[in-house]
Amino acid sequence: MSKKILVMGGAGYIGSHTVKHLAAKGYDCVVADNLVYGHREAVPAGVPFEKADLNDPSSLEALFSKYDFEAVLHFAAFAYVGESVTDPQKYYHNNVVGTLNLLAAMKNHGVKKIVFSSTCATYGEPQYTPMDEQHPQNPINPYGRTKLMIEQVFGDYAKAYGLKYIALRYFNAAGAAADGSIGEAHNPETHLIPLVLQAIQGKRPCIKIFGTDYPTPDGTCLRDYIHVEDLAEAHRLALEKLDQYSGYINLGTGVKTSVKEIISAAEKVTGKKCPVELAPRRAGDPAELYAAKGKGETVLGWMPTYMNIEDIIATAWKWEENRKY
Ligand code: UDP
Repeated sequence: MSKKILVMGGAGYIGSHTVKHLAAKGYDCVVADNLVYGHREAVPAGVPFEKADLNDPSSLEALFSKYDFEAVLHFAAFAYVGESVTDPQKYYHNNVVGTLNLLAAMKNHGVKKIVFSSTCATYGEPQYTPMDEQHPQNPINPYGRTKLMIEQVFGDYAKAYGLKYIALRYFNAAGAAADGSIGEAHNPETHLIPLVLQAIQGKRPCIKIFGTDYPTPDGTCLRDYIHVEDLAEAHRLALEKLDQYSGYINLGTGVKTSVKEIISAAEKVTGKKCPVELAPRRAGDPAELYAAKGKGETVLGWMPTYMNIEDIIATAWKWEENRKY
């Protein structure tokens, strides 16, 4: 039997797009998810699905006993920054203890390769932009700290146990599958693009712009929106690179887009007005966050294909108009 790729958290937003991409390229994936935030419907037909939970080591043991894995893609994490401040125990248990459980199961079964979902939130308040991988890491919330802790664990496990790892530090994941079959479906939704599109649809009263007094050209925050299918391809390339390289890689486009520009682009794509309310700043939001071009290209040979924000929003709109879950 050929070796398989375990996609932990493969029913979530970025995980499911990666599974779809890998399956289309002929990779043999197994998806495991606890379905707390993931959607069973997001896993393509024909890809084996197993219910497993990082905080239940017996479910991990059963998973690793049933299949022969070559590598793990690890997407399974809680990712609400605000909630991580009010309920840090939930985040440290799932994201840190849970990942240690996963690494233990890998070690017990001789699986040495992992690609991990990290985040630009590990950098904290930017000291300079664009941000490269050498930027100091001082996360400003428990969510960012959980991701940084795991990055540090990888280095130690690599030295002691020969773990091969790539931690991908995403900027703002956005968009949906070009064919409209899967997309972003958080509950509750907190991300800008789906909220803007839902306000345009009348599913929400308006979009609140969090802060209009930032030191940016239009006073609203600048972010680097990276298409989820470009993230999926970066994971595939990282999988292929694990024999030669372990380390940390930013994934962004290097293009910065303001909150107001997102709203204008969404109005253009949909041909409809977005009701807007000006609101105070949200705690913990830096004025600008965007990635320097660098290791994505030089180490992985990765180039984002979606460089235009309207193209990214068009895929999200196709999904929002015909959501399946
Ligand atoms: N934002 C906003 N209104 C919202 C949600 C987000 O103005 O209802 C802003 C937020 O302040 C940030 C940008 O949109 O500057 C992207 O936020 P999101 O939560 O999508 O991602 P984050 O940058 O926090 O990872």
